[in-house]
Amino acid sequence: MRRFVYDALPGRVVFANGAFDRVPDELDRLGARRVLLIADRSAQSWAERLTEQLADRVVARIDDVRVHVPIERATAARTLARESAVDSMLAIGGGSTTGLAKAVALELPLPILAIPTTYAGSEMTPIWGLTEGARKRTGRDSVVQPKTVIYDPILTLSLPPAIAGPSGMNALAHCAEALYADGANPVTSLMAEEGIRVLAVSLPRVTNSPDDLEARGEVLLGAYLAAAAFAAAGSGIHHKMCHVLGGAYDLPHAETHTVILPHALALVAPTEPEAMARIAAAMGNPDVPGAVYDLAVALGTPTSLAAIGLPADRLDEAAGLIVDAVSASSQPADLPSVRSLLSDAFEGRRPSFDRVIQRSSTA
Ligand code: NAD
Repeated sequence: MRRFVYDALPGRVVFANGAFDRVPDELDRLGARRVLLIADRSAQSWAERLTEQLADRVVARIDDVRVHVPIERATAARTLARESAVDSMLAIGGGSTTGLAKAVALELPLPILAIPTTYAGSEMTPIWGLTEGARKRTGRDSVVQPKTVIYDPILTLSLPPAIAGPSGMNALAHCAEALYADGANPVTSLMAEEGIRVLAVSLPRVTNSPDDLEARGEVLLGAYLAAAAFAAAGSGIHHKMCHVLGGAYDLPHAETHTVILPHALALVAPTEPEAMARIAAAMGNPDVPGAVYDLAVALGTPTSLAAIGLPADRLDEAAGLIVDAVSASSQPADLPSVRSLLSDAFEGRRPSFDRVIQRSSTA
């Protein structure tokens, strides 16, 4: 008999090509009269369109968004929100844009309507992040969870393959970890498995044919399923490793996930056979770490830590930081395993079944 606790998260999702046109109606549903519009640089034409369409309902705008929500930006945005007496926020962009809206909501509990333009998935989660100096803090608070999310694949057509590939791998990482995270349950696992299936099939179509709107829609659906599963189930050792590496060495978020994921899956494969079987079924390949690595190669994404800027002389230090970070978790790892994983990831080696089995028998 299975036992589980499922804290289903609230939120309204509107998913369609052209769903962007429903923004005024969705703002009405939220009772939004004075909107702070936050849009990253890539979404400026959409922001302009809305500002015209909504006339005097957009009372403040932020057009310059930085990654990882620097505290200075959050403070400035909160001040603007207060001074403009806004009653809601509309965020158009990737995880950095949604993250800034969340940082405002953490102090001023305003409803957020999010329109994601990448596959990062922040729009579905109650997780916030703030960077002070070189340190990124994260937390969970239902007040930051967007009330409404509009998924419109048309807004992702401009996402170039070099960003779409790693961003899609970030979504794949959410699905994979949701299958063995502490909060995994039969419902989130269904979402995660289906997310892997659509991402594995449609991501290469997106990077090969960026104008393929149907493939864009499938990948955005996969990203939604990934984020919804991860938001409720939580994550595991892969996310902790990426958090350490990204934070300590300022590595790019989605690319770090892309490089680490095959190796993290090789590490956890021996202890998570059920999750591996589901990922294998979704990817149509029993060699899960190898298949994930091959997908990254097919997408043309970086596959080594060396390529994304980790200096070789920091590998020992990074291994120690990771072991410390996961020591109290349900998936601890020993120093030799993590150091060997980092060597593989640094060189961009394809994880092989032999290596998985070898780790299994020496664990
Ligand atoms: P991002 O928001 O920084 O965007 C990456 C780049 O893509 C930017 O240069 C942006 O301008 C560009 N871009 C975005 N959409 C585009 C489009 N449609 N066309 C062309 N260019 C486009 O990156 P991200 O990967 O979406 O988000 C990363 C951030 O989100 C990190 O800070 C990460 O920690 C956070 N995050 C948070 C959660 C959460 O649950 N809180 C989940 C995932 C990621």
